[in-house]
Amino acid sequence: MSVRSFVHASMRGATAILSRIKNLIIPPFCAYCRDFMNSDEVLCERCLARIRPIVSMPLRITKKKELFIYAISDYEYPLRSLIQQKQYGNRCASRQLGRLLWEHTPLEQVQFDIIVPIPLHWTRYAWRGFNQSEEMANVLSKYSKKPVVHLLERSKKTLWQAGLSRENRAVNLRQVFNLAKDAYQYERMRILFVDDVLTTGATLYAACKALRPLRPAICSAVVVCRVINK
Ligand SMILES: [Zn+2]
Repeated sequence: MSVRSFVHASMRGATAILSRIKNLIIPPFCAYCRDFMNSDEVLCERCLARIRPIVSMPLRITKKKELFIYAISDYEYPLRSLIQQKQYGNRCASRQLGRLLWEHTPLEQVQFDIIVPIPLHWTRYAWRGFNQSEEMANVLSKYSKKPVVHLLERSKKTLWQAGLSRENRAVNLRQVFNLAKDAYQYERMRILFVDDVLTTGATLYAACKALRPLRPAICSAVVVCRVINK
């Protein structure tokens, strides 16, 4: 056994032990029905089967262009439990969400060259330790074999979107994204944005506007949930 494979084997062993210790401390119960589960997932198979799919919708960007948005479902239980887990910094939930994005939307038929996660502001990143859109994008990259490219950077801190009116949200998100330094090598590509929750569409609208200098061929987006404002 080479040193390298020995190190790999030891790391795999350590990961398995850590996973068992974690299961002893936090037993794997389904986040919604609280049933005991035999896996590292957050929602059990029975709850996943309850997710009600929705029809994808277009978001108008300019007179001629629209962004097609694919979502797993509306913001309702049991999927809502998974989103809430994720907000508490559960990386495992983000990965399960990534898999659901692939399995519960028509993404397999969507044409795209690169996957662009919507960035999180660094203060929130520091607080949570990871960006859930990035985690989901990495999972989608494995399924689609397309690369994750960080084309966007947040230029200033966005106020919390919740509680703001539609107009204020639009103002809040104006110039919120900058293009990354090496973005110009990705001109005229087919883009797939990844974000968690769609409310007014203002974030995705701002992301599309920021990418305009790259003249993308097509932009599509995939989100976990669509929140209907009533
Ligand atoms: Zn369950």
